[in-house]
Amino acid sequence: MQISNFSIKQLTVIASVMMAVTFVLFYLTFRYFWTYDTAVELAIDRQNEEVRRVKTLIHLQKNDLAKSISDYAAWDEVVDFIEGNNDDLLVDSINEHSFSALQINGVFIFDADVSLMWGRMYDYIYKQELSYDEIRYKFGALLAESLRSRTDRITPFVRFLVLNEQPHLLATSRVCNSDGIDCDKGYMMILKPVGETFSRTLQQATGLQVHIKTKRDDDTILDHAQDNISIIEKNDYRNDETVFLEIHHSVKLPPFITWGELSAVLAFAVFMFAFNLSVVHIMVRPIKRARRALDQLMSGESSQLTQQDTFISYEMRDFVYRVNEVISQLESKQQELEWIAHHDALTKVGNRRSLQQHWQTLVEKQPKHTSLLLIDIDYFKPFNDHYGHVEGDNVLQQVATALKEASTESSKFVARFGGEEFCVVLSNDSPINNRQEAEWLRAAVETLKIRHHYSPIAAHLTASIGVADCGLQPLGDLQDLFLVADRALYEAKDAGRNQVVIHLSER
Ligand code: GH3
Ligand code: MG
Ligand code: MG
Repeated sequence: MQISNFSIKQLTVIASVMMAVTFVLFYLTFRYFWTYDTAVELAIDRQNEEVRRVKTLIHLQKNDLAKSISDYAAWDEVVDFIEGNNDDLLVDSINEHSFSALQINGVFIFDADVSLMWGRMYDYIYKQELSYDEIRYKFGALLAESLRSRTDRITPFVRFLVLNEQPHLLATSRVCNSDGIDCDKGYMMILKPVGETFSRTLQQATGLQVHIKTKRDDDTILDHAQDNISIIEKNDYRNDETVFLEIHHSVKLPPFITWGELSAVLAFAVFMFAFNLSVVHIMVRPIKRARRALDQLMSGESSQLTQQDTFISYEMRDFVYRVNEVISQLESKQQELEWIAHHDALTKVGNRRSLQQHWQTLVEKQPKHTSLLLIDIDYFKPFNDHYGHVEGDNVLQQVATALKEASTESSKFVARFGGEEFCVVLSNDSPINNRQEAEWLRAAVETLKIRHHYSPIAAHLTASIGVADCGLQPLGDLQDLFLVADRALYEAKDAGRNQVVIHLSER
């Protein structure tokens, strides 16, 4: 399949489709590498900012809890309680009100040997005691950091912990004196649930939906793969269960392209396609018209390709202008050839072919009266011999013009028959006065007064004329009439030249 075999319309359709497709591809590529990439980067930056806000809040919450445990652990009342001198502590300072005020659900106090002095888990919302069986045997592990910590000043630790499958913050510290030094009095542990309440607090503070969840190591966080959700993982002490925060971002990653935008791009592509087609249609229309005009030109109905003004491009107008110019040149050449084919080049009167054609038209028209005259210049050979051929040619031209211009009553057709012989056909619907008409022609040559000192009969050029009169007979073969005229001419020559002899044609 060659591209040159397609019509302009097909090529246009292909080109228009390619243009529309290229436009859509360019648009999408541009969008991907330029706008979309930048928008995604911006959204990711803002999502990271949201993650930072949540982290900051968690950090503040941890600090709050660290401060709370520091307050208790560096309080003489607690030291007194560990030493067995202050049972009022539990009534006055670590009571149900404290649980609810600090939003905690567990407090444990240990002596210096990590023996549990007192512990309580209490649901301050539902106001009910909770069991702490699950951690009863893990106190050592939970206090590990505090056990290893320095004793010269108070150092609180806050970690996430999964307890009863619920996320918690675990705060531990050594118990110190009220100056926060000498921290070898015992240990303290506070548990704070970070479930729904904590989620709501985070939500209010950040404006983001944050879910606090737990998972075992062998679980997978399915949501992790989702867009617009970030996960913050916090390992607990035992490392086999994890607290994780699922942040639902308010800033969403932008879609690559919206349906509205895609429809607009496609609509524009379709418009471009249609526009292209119509433009080419307008451009091709004059070419089709030119094609029709060319057909008309070939069939002879028209002489021009078409008006170049109807073409809309400079190139096409110029092309048609050139074609019209070539056509005009061909026409004038054709006219020239036509003229040459029917005229004698030297004398410009008709030639034998045009004589034959003229005769043919007369045969078709059948005028009532016709005569054929053969005119031969007398003693032209000696003229040529003495005055030269150039002068002879000049004389032939003058004689032809004289014969053409000589006035006759009948219609006259003059042709050069050959050499210095001319043939004149007279036709008329009324009878022809052959003698008079032939005499006028003979006199027309004589009146030229062309000197001819080598003619034995006169000092100037003369001509003899043989006339074949068709009489009332219908016109037939030109050749037959010719013989009659030739005989008459021969007689005129024989009788002394410069005269007219008339023969009636009989068949
Ligand atoms: P006649 O009176 O018997 O006709 O004598 P003539 O000398 O005219 O004899 P003829 O008709 O046989 O001579 C024809 C001459 O015409 C011969 C030639 O030199 C001359 N001739 C024929 N054609 C041309 C031509 O085209 N140009 C010139 N210059 N001369 C021509
Ligand atoms: Mg002759
Ligand atoms: Mg002659």
